[in-house]
Amino acid sequence: MSAIRTFWRTGILGRCPECGRTSMFNSYYGLHERCAVCNTRFESNSGEWLGGTAFGYTIGALVALALALIEVQWGIFAAMGLSLAWTMGVIAAIALAATVVGYRPAKAIWFALVYEMGFMAVGDDPPGTPRPR
Ligand SMILES: [Zn+2]
Repeated sequence: MSAIRTFWRTGILGRCPECGRTSMFNSYYGLHERCAVCNTRFESNSGEWLGGTAFGYTIGALVALALALIEVQWGIFAAMGLSLAWTMGVIAAIALAATVVGYRPAKAIWFALVYEMGFMAVGDDPPGTPRPR
């Protein structure tokens, strides 16, 4: 149940995985360093943003794959009179837009996983230190 709660409040709502009282984000993509309420350090290890980036690109790739399969099956873009080059360009543009828009939720889902796996720390403690209750 705890993992579902973390997925909801961090992965979907973008809130602190520990207390849920503040947003992890200080801009559309940028993370606060720590939670202002419970002092959880969101990016406790350098390079943790890379997983969120991989998730974001995965979203774009899945959108491109889905659109390509839809085009192969039903020929929606061809029916609109688009050439193959224009179809590929439109699919690439939509996939890029999905990547840009989907990066924030992808990053939030990634940090929910990081929290659930115990790689987030409180204060200046190293990751994996048991949390005070
Ligand atoms: Zn917090």
